[in-house]
Amino acid sequence: MNIMEHAELERWLREERPEVLEELWRRADAIRREMVGDEVHLRGLIEISNHCARQCHYCGLRAGNRDLTRYRMSADEILECARAAARFGYGTVVMQAGEDAALTGAWVADVVRRIKAEVDLAVTLSLGERSLDELALWKEAGADRYLLRFETSNAELFSRIHPPKAGSATVVDRVAQLQAMRSLGYEIGSGVMIGIPGQSYADLARDLELFRELDLDMIGVGPFLTHPATPLAAISPNAGVDQAPATELMTYKMVALTRLCCPRANLPSTTALATLNLARGREFGLLRGANVVMPNLTPPKYRALYEIYPAKACVRETAEQCHGCLRRRIESIGRRVGQGRGSALRKTSEFR
Ligand code: SAH
Repeated sequence: MNIMEHAELERWLREERPEVLEELWRRADAIRREMVGDEVHLRGLIEISNHCARQCHYCGLRAGNRDLTRYRMSADEILECARAAARFGYGTVVMQAGEDAALTGAWVADVVRRIKAEVDLAVTLSLGERSLDELALWKEAGADRYLLRFETSNAELFSRIHPPKAGSATVVDRVAQLQAMRSLGYEIGSGVMIGIPGQSYADLARDLELFRELDLDMIGVGPFLTHPATPLAAISPNAGVDQAPATELMTYKMVALTRLCCPRANLPSTTALATLNLARGREFGLLRGANVVMPNLTPPKYRALYEIYPAKACVRETAEQCHGCLRRRIESIGRRVGQGRGSALRKTSEFR
């Protein structure tokens, strides 16, 4: 397959004609089938804490949002979710949270160890920017994968919307962090938001090139959704920016192009996409390149509080309901639920 150049990626991102886009969807779906097959892997998502020390301009969990009731799950509650994941036949649990200092290195390591001792699941962590010591400790405890989106490859835009940790002068280089995680033995996942105010078409094309350069195992792309309690709610993009829109269609183009750039990667059809089109968003994502979905296992009493953006899809459902709903959606488009962990098929991993 020919590698798409920057200009061609950008051309696809600007394409609006449905009959031409059909060709993109068809190509992405064919490569998906050839490279990762018809199985759709289920990753059970546990949103373990919405406390956050950071001030990201896009995220509703930011420390400055005083209107949010904060929660932190106990280790026993997390274990209960992991048992549910095993019962539902998932291969993976993903523990995600704000940057919460109370989730100490030792505490997280202990939870990972308990999960690994009790259930046969891959464990993915998505706990923000953490120290190398903590990442090494968690790997040692049995964690398999880490998710850290670089959010945008435009470093200037990223530094504007992602202030450094309190007491630190510089923004952490998330790309360097991902590379360090890979050296520690993690499968690494990253991704971006689509349509951030100030993000151009060229930025999105560059995001795709960076996905390819990093040879990522997992890539999540979803629309940027404005949260009213964040600084980005008050920003209208500078007229000088060739602004990419935060639309459902732009998200499908990014999913499809991600599949073409990274044929073997695991790509979720995201909740943010389902939030834009509850009826069909997940299915269209799966039909245009994606091969993973992330049913939510978070106990209903906490779910609505993990409000990274408003009107998030599926906040009132129980884990059982999410499970049944996603299974039906997968089967309705002629695909099957994946068996096993659904680990990465990276080029290099075949030779490990
Ligand atoms: N604290 C962790 C987890 C953050 S939530 C971290 O920073 O990695 C997971 C993802 O949600 C983020 O990486 C971001 O891409 C996405 N997200 C946050 N705010 C969003 C918004 N307003 N619209 C769409 N996606 C958002």
